[in-house]
Amino acid sequence: MCAIEAGKRGRKVMVLDHANKPGKKILMSGGGRCNFTNQDISASNFISHNPHFCKSALSRYTQWDFIAMVDDHQISYHERDLGKLFCDDSARDILNMLLAECDKANVDIQLNCDIKDISKTDDSAFVISTATGNFQTSSLVIACGGLSIPKMCASPLGYKVAEQFDHHIWPTTAGLVPFTLQPDDKERFAKLSGIAVECIVSNDRIQFKENILFTHRGLSGPAILQISSYWEPGESININLLPDIDIVNLLKTRKSEQPNTRLKAILGELLPKRVLLTFLGQETVDEPLQIISHERIREIATQLQQWQIKPNGTEGYRTAEVTLGGVDCNELSSKTMESSKVSGLYFIGEVVDVTGWLGGYNFQWAWSSGWCAGQIV
Ligand SMILES: Cc1cc2nc3c(=O)[nH]c(=O)nc-3n(C[C@H](O)[C@H](O)[C@H](O)COP(=O)(O)OP(=O)(O)OC[C@H]3O[C@@H](n4cnc5c(N)ncnc54)[C@H](O)[C@@H]3O)c2cc1C
Repeated sequence: MCAIEAGKRGRKVMVLDHANKPGKKILMSGGGRCNFTNQDISASNFISHNPHFCKSALSRYTQWDFIAMVDDHQISYHERDLGKLFCDDSARDILNMLLAECDKANVDIQLNCDIKDISKTDDSAFVISTATGNFQTSSLVIACGGLSIPKMCASPLGYKVAEQFDHHIWPTTAGLVPFTLQPDDKERFAKLSGIAVECIVSNDRIQFKENILFTHRGLSGPAILQISSYWEPGESININLLPDIDIVNLLKTRKSEQPNTRLKAILGELLPKRVLLTFLGQETVDEPLQIISHERIREIATQLQQWQIKPNGTEGYRTAEVTLGGVDCNELSSKTMESSKVSGLYFIGEVVDVTGWLGGYNFQWAWSSGWCAGQIV
């Protein structure tokens, strides 16, 4: 995005990438359909040590600007839950659109380019030494992304360059990532592998209402990925498997109206049978309501609506969608993304300490921050 905008202004732009193909993360995003933005974007959808920093870029290049480009290229898309926009056909449509725009703007993309060293000369030019030669430039934009999915060419280069030029880096951790479980929990819940349930997942700071997915390794699904970005190691999370239902009231009412009905007949309409068995046990689910005391009804509600679980950890950068932390926003201009320490040096996208929620927010940050730098480099 930055290269396109700078190229449109007549700047001579070269993109150096060590990958053998461009836009690998775009291709694998959104299950191959690229959740390229969201209809509803605000600063509260982003995590940063400076929660105000992202506002300027997001308001200067909005989701509507990106959608207009997608429309111009006649890419068909659809909305899924919570405003998420996905391609109808393939993520490749988004990549092809960006490559076509790069082409129009005369951007030179050099792939398989191993960057050996970056230095600054006395006359304020940057020299980038690569395996295929040295390049000199007055503006250097670092758009190396985060550490997530090393197999997809993620590397720490962006953070290293920032450090080299005396930038502060907030510690990085994996975000939007599945949880692994303690051995006992892992064994207990592995038999639910493949089951998704709409839940409210929360900790003391935030809550998300989306699906959780039981997997053979632990817990995943959108609600889990979201809370993982707010999780501290050692902390428990709360899961309400029956959001929006007053289960105590429901069971008490049914008990007085249909005392012979078994618990499983009522709860079976609300949750998969295997989930009920795992949480309550065969004996309980077979009981007729008439023998279940009001106190026991409250216990059942607690088991299903206030499930507390302490993850063992996360799956880490191997599968994380994003990297939390990164280049400290307080040392960058929120309008241009330029370093306040080194003129001509810019940081955009995921390498910056701005991390979006699941739902197209991370791409929108990449588009918006890239667009802003592209107006000035
Ligand atoms: C599996 C997966 C699915 C995702 N799905 C979505 C989604 O649907 N919607 C959404 O909004 N976000 C999604 N994300 C997050 C999103 O992909 C990133 O936040 C976004 O791509 C960041 O853009 P970026 O340009 O900053 O970095 P990247 O897209 O990571 O690009 C960085 C580029 O720098 C290159 N590079 C890295 N190190 C070096 C080096 N040492 N030398 C030369 N080049 C280097 C890489 O090859 C790469 O081309 C997903 C992420 C993953 C991993």
